[in-house]
Amino acid sequence: MHPAREAHNARMTTPLVNDRAAWLLGGGTHCAQPPAQVHRAWRLVLLGPPGVGKGTQADLLHHSLGACPLSTGDIFRHAHNRPLPAGSALAEAWEYMQRGELVPDTTVLGIIAERGHCLHCRGGFMLDGFPRTHAQAVGLDALLAREDLQLDAVVCYSLPTPDLVARISGRRICPQCKAVFHVATHPPRTPDVCDQCGSHLEHRADDRPEAVTIRLETYHTTTLPLVEYYRAKGLLVPIEASGSGEQILAATLDALRSLPF
Ligand code: AMP
Repeated sequence: MHPAREAHNARMTTPLVNDRAAWLLGGGTHCAQPPAQVHRAWRLVLLGPPGVGKGTQADLLHHSLGACPLSTGDIFRHAHNRPLPAGSALAEAWEYMQRGELVPDTTVLGIIAERGHCLHCRGGFMLDGFPRTHAQAVGLDALLAREDLQLDAVVCYSLPTPDLVARISGRRICPQCKAVFHVATHPPRTPDVCDQCGSHLEHRADDRPEAVTIRLETYHTTTLPLVEYYRAKGLLVPIEASGSGEQILAATLDALRSLPF
C-alpha cells in the first residue's frame, strides 16, 4: 500500500494515543504515552497561511514520521475548555484568538519556553502555527540554541487565497476527537455529526468571515516574511498544497527524504 494511503488509514482508524499533555498543559505535565523512539527524530516547523491544511498534514506526518504535532493554536483552544484565572495570559489569549488577531509575542514565547522539554521529544516534533512573527522566529532560534537542538527543515505550504477562503469557510471540526470535515469536499455522513465519535461538529469562531479576513491579512504582513528568513538559513522546503491530504503528504515526504543529511 502507498505510504501516504497507509498513514491516512492509520489516522482514520486509530486515535492519537499520545494525549500531548506535556504540550497542551505545560507546567511539567508528562504525556500519557510519549511517541516511540524513532530511527530519525525530525525537528520541523510547518509554515503556511490559515486554511492551507497544516493541522491535517501534522497529523498525517505524525503517523508517517513519528514526530509529535505541537500546535500553539491547540494550546489556546485547550486552555479555553479549562477553568482559568480571569486576566491570566491564556485567558487573554482567547480574546485575541476570537478576533482573529495574533496573541502577543511575549505571551507566546513564555508558553513555548515553558514547554522547552517537548523539543527533546524522542519522536521529534513539528511546530504548527509557531513561529508567526519575526520576534517569535528569533525567540525560537534562541530557545533551540539553549536546548542544543537544530531544526531540520521548515516546510512551507502555499495555496491561492480564494482556495484558502473556500477551505476555511466550509471547515467543521470535532471538538472531541479533533477530526476535520468540510461541508463540500469532505462532508460527514450525517450533517454536523462527527463520523468518528458522534460529537456535534463546530464551526471555529475564528473561521467565520470577519476573523478570516484579519487572519489572512495578518499572515501576509507578519508571517510571510519568515519564508525569506528560513530560506536564508537554507531550511525552507516549499510545498504546493493543492490536491488531497494524501497527495500533499506524499509531496512532503518526498521533499524531506531528498534533503541532503
Ligand atoms: P491556528 O490554530 O494555528 O490557526 O491558531 C489559531 C489562533 O491562535 C491564531 O489565529 C492566533 O489568534 C492564535 N495563535 C496561534 N499560534 C500563535 C502564535 N504563534 N502567535 C500568535 N498567535 C497565535
